Amino acid sequence: MATRFEPGAPPPAGTIPLSVPVLHGNEWSYVKECLDTGWVSSAGPFVDRFERDVARRVGTHHAVATVNGTAALHLALIAAGVERGDEVIVPSLTFIAPANAVRYVGARPVFLDVDPEYWQLDPGAVAAFLRDECRIAGGEAWNKETGARVKAILPVDILGHPVDLDPLLTLARADGLAVVQDSTESLGSLYKGRPVGADADIACFSFNGNKIITAGGGGMVVTRDEALAARVRYLSTQAKDDPSEYVHGDVGYNYRLTNLQAAVGCAQLEQLDDHVRRKRAIARSYAKALGGVPGIGSAPEAPWARSTFWLYTILVDASVSRTSSRSLISTLRSKHIESRPLWQPLHRSPAHAWKGRDRPVSERIVTQGVSLPSSPNLTSEDQERVIDAVRDAA
Ligand SMILES: *Cc1c(COP(=O)(O)O)cnc(C)c1O
Repeated sequence: MATRFEPGAPPPAGTIPLSVPVLHGNEWSYVKECLDTGWVSSAGPFVDRFERDVARRVGTHHAVATVNGTAALHLALIAAGVERGDEVIVPSLTFIAPANAVRYVGARPVFLDVDPEYWQLDPGAVAAFLRDECRIAGGEAWNKETGARVKAILPVDILGHPVDLDPLLTLARADGLAVVQDSTESLGSLYKGRPVGADADIACFSFNGNKIITAGGGGMVVTRDEALAARVRYLSTQAKDDPSEYVHGDVGYNYRLTNLQAAVGCAQLEQLDDHVRRKRAIARSYAKALGGVPGIGSAPEAPWARSTFWLYTILVDASVSRTSSRSLISTLRSKHIESRPLWQPLHRSPAHAWKGRDRPVSERIVTQGVSLPSSPNLTSEDQERVIDAVRDAA
């Protein structure tokens, strides 16, 4: 019998999932508290607490909860001063949400390549773009070809690994760009010993169901800058100037997180360290078992980084291995193991109709990448099954 396991369809029972939430803490009691007190909607004690707890965890001053990570990015870009007609530097290798957020404000993403070692936005590519393709005038960068102002760099910490932020901050400071960091996949990871999200002008997190911790759905904008935080908070609540007379000073958004979601988020945040520990142990087992297999490359970790290995991702070099990334994914599927490729490189995305140059490193990593089951509750027996299946195929 053919296995029914189409993308989007629920996998058959007994399938080892790619990544599922683990809700073993205070979720029940915190949600019950919301129901018992009637605080279920877009204000309430858990929203305030979730913001405080995330800010403390990240080591920054302000956090503003939002309905999801994409909304967080949208507001962060507005607060960072990105305007219609501007350009924003985005890595070609990322989930599409940050590029979409750039488009929401009427700006255009400039897709630059990632570094081959750690797969994150390459500071060398950003430096070359600003030096060779931009003109610096009046403390601002202007794209020589399009004439547009390049207003911000939007690095993404993909797959639980931080981007090399310091050189990006240096470049941004020199040419008057803002740095809006998309840390949605990497809460809990460290850059040079510091939590990701602490050092950019503004950073965003997501609490979607497949992230390292979840609120069912949700996002957070964090910043050290009080004025930026106030602006994000204002825009997220319909830009209300006078709540009793309903006077609105701007076109705002209804982007606030509900107390119910924040309750789940607070309980999950208490388990973040456990999830990171589990994912790092899972990564160690994968690296040990698959490290010597010809044609299979392990997920990287820079010497200056502590990755959460949010989704443990291997590279399959089809010129060496007996399999390719895509045939490995179907083989695993036939053995009831869920895995998936990385995202289409954004310079190829029909949604963004990029007319610039190809980005070969992103291209290669996407051709070769396969994310393997990485749930915090993955058992060692199930992980053995995955490892055996990958070894057999390769
Ligand atoms: C998940 C994700 C987002 C968006 O978060 P949502 O909460 O799903 O809106 C943004 N950027 C990246 C890189 C992501 O992986």
